[in-house]
Amino acid sequence: MGGRTVEDPSGRGRASKPGCGEKGAAAEEKPLAPGLYLVATPIGNLADVTLRALSVLASADRIWCEDTRVTARLLASYGIRKKPLQPYHDHNAERARPAILAALRRGERVALVSDAGTPLISDPGYKLVREALAEGLALSAIPGPSAALAALLVSGLPPDRFLFAGFLPPRQKARRRALEPWAALLASLIFFESTPRLGESLADMAAVLGERPAAVARELTKLHEEVRRGKLGELAAYYREKGPPRGEAVIVVGPPVAAPPAPAEIDLRLEKALAALSVREAAARIAVETGLPRAAIYRRALDLKRAKEGGDEPGA
Ligand code: SAM
Repeated sequence: MGGRTVEDPSGRGRASKPGCGEKGAAAEEKPLAPGLYLVATPIGNLADVTLRALSVLASADRIWCEDTRVTARLLASYGIRKKPLQPYHDHNAERARPAILAALRRGERVALVSDAGTPLISDPGYKLVREALAEGLALSAIPGPSAALAALLVSGLPPDRFLFAGFLPPRQKARRRALEPWAALLASLIFFESTPRLGESLADMAAVLGERPAAVARELTKLHEEVRRGKLGELAAYYREKGPPRGEAVIVVGPPVAAPPAPAEIDLRLEKALAALSVREAAARIAVETGLPRAAIYRRALDLKRAKEGGDEPGA
């Protein structure tokens, strides 16, 4: 059957969106509609660009980008002919934004890209999006690489809940203060960090968040890609001793490691479970609940059961 019909996010009518595994060629062949396209580009390996990103960049009337030389190289490497490239970065955004909005009002197809990865994610574009939406202008994301998600994937840390925290302040006092609200969050934390600050930032994370598993993902998708995993304190010591590595890096920190319940609490839970379950089943349930080794919990469950049956005090 054909693709699901969904509301066109640009508000320009209905569009056919392919479901998983279906071909979207028909939708892609349509001429590019007017609007602002937020286009993700590679974070290192040039091959990590989507077919749709290339198609939008090739069809756009204008491209606004952080550094025109970087984007010109990307376009040239895919044989996209010369087209107007204009800078949009932290230092000219206030002045450049009216020109972008004017182009959109004229019905042009405008692409926004950053030097690498997904625009707006610790890169310019958010204010432009807000203003374009306030004027009812069409807007689409062309998703693709982002260092934050790539780092989470290879970190080996829980991906089910995560907080992307961007860059931390460069000074220690402000950095520690910025970390405090996240200390109790039951989620993995993702930070962008400049490589010269890796050692200090990891040490502050260990101090404020407590010792936790973490990973430093460096030069992702590039020739010298490296992922170093360990406790926050170990990683801090490593980078302080070795000195800053080259390139770019993302820090991923695992959620707080829950302290195991006190022995009296474990006994209480086991006694409750033993009232309804066999020793084996009770031990399995409490081992899962507490994260403690099943064999130790099983031995304790046996002691408790024997003591109850014999009327003895269970062994300590
Ligand atoms: N918007 C971009 C994205 O979605 O990936 C991020 C831009 S932010 C200005 C740059 C930061 O992203 C770097 O300081 C680093 O923390 C991270 N980064 C970008 N490329 C990376 C890579 N190839 N490997 C590791 N980290 C990277």
